[in-house]
Order: sequence, then C-alpha cells, then structure tokens
Amino acid sequence: MHQLIAAPFFGGHFIVKPGGKPGLRLPSTLFNELAQSDRCPPELIGPIKTAFDIDLDQLQLRDVILLRAPSPLPSGGFGRASWEINLGCNWDCEHCYLALKKFEGLPWEGKAKLLETMRDAGVLFLQITGGEPTIDPDFVQAYGLAAELGMMLHISTNASQLHQPRILELFDRYPPWRIMGADDAQGDRIEVGS
Ligand code: SF4
Repeated sequence: MHQLIAAPFFGGHFIVKPGGKPGLRLPSTLFNELAQSDRCPPELIGPIKTAFDIDLDQLQLRDVILLRAPSPLPSGGFGRASWEINLGCNWDCEHCYLALKKFEGLPWEGKAKLLETMRDAGVLFLQITGGEPTIDPDFVQAYGLAAELGMMLHISTNASQLHQPRILELFDRYPPWRIMGADDAQGDRIEVGS
C-alpha cells in the first residue's frame, strides 16, 4: 500500500498523505519528472522528508508514492466528489433531512465501477456518506478500493459503528483524511482530521 499520493488537482499538482498530513504543491515539471522516473527527483527528497518524515533516498519510489494519471476529460476532470453509498440509516434523528432512508445502493460491481470512473475523472478527495455509510454491506470493500485507487477519504458518519473491529482495522490500514458526523439529539458536529 502506498504511503503518499501524487496527483493533479484543480490545475495544480500535489503530493498528499492519507491520514491528513498537509500536502506539498509541485511544479508541473517536477510532477512530470516524478511520473517518468523510477527514482525520486533529488530536489524532492528533502521536502518529502520534511513534510511527511519519509526518506525516499532509502526507498523505492513506486513502493511509496502512488502516481495518479491526469484525467482525460477535456475539463481536466473533477478534484472532489461526494458519494451517498446507501441512504439507509440505523438512527432516526428528528432533524434528519432524508425522508424515507431507503436501505438501498448499487450492487458491488456497480460500486467498483463507480469508484474506477471517479478515479478516471480525477477525483482525489472523496466523501463517502449516506444515510449511514458504515452500515452498507459493501462499505469496507468500497472504502478499501477507493483507498487503493489513490483517493483521500472523508467519511460522514453518525459514529455508531466506529468502535467495530472491522472499521477500526479498516481505518488503521487505510487512514481516513477526515471523519465528520453529528449526534442524534443536538446535531453537534464531531470532526477528526484536518
Ligand atoms: S444519523 Fe444522519 S442520516 Fe441517520 S437519521 Fe440521523 S441525521 Fe439522518
């Protein structure tokens, strides 16, 4: 699993780290050099060490950095997206804006195709929401695939499932960029990450 993602984003080029560390902005020439080489350009080794505490002088570039291809879309693609994976929820808050909270979403094949489409469209920051996303039967698999495809993941959740071993193991393996939610009675915001 990569530790860093290098990607085009809204006309610029960035290196970001899943888990929420601040990113590095790169000149396009350096991004292109990174894309074409098996070794880290020497002028990037110091900034990466300082920003992420990773010494690319000692490591294989491709083992550490996942390089995202530019989107082929004429507009340059989409940097961010929000995905309602399932509109069902295990709570029934008075203030909820969802009416029926139907427990339905795409089958797994559709979810995987949607994630690959978003990757190809250039999505770097993906919010997965619902309903309550963590109760979707494919949540763990979908979150893992999105992480492997090189997306920074933001989960909007009521936090009711965050203690479950399957979620703790998932977030340990693929650290989220951000977790946000609201409690059932007050609508208070809970936020973890940057
Ligand atoms: S947790 Fe969110 S989605 Fe679920 S009922 Fe409450 S407000 Fe609606």
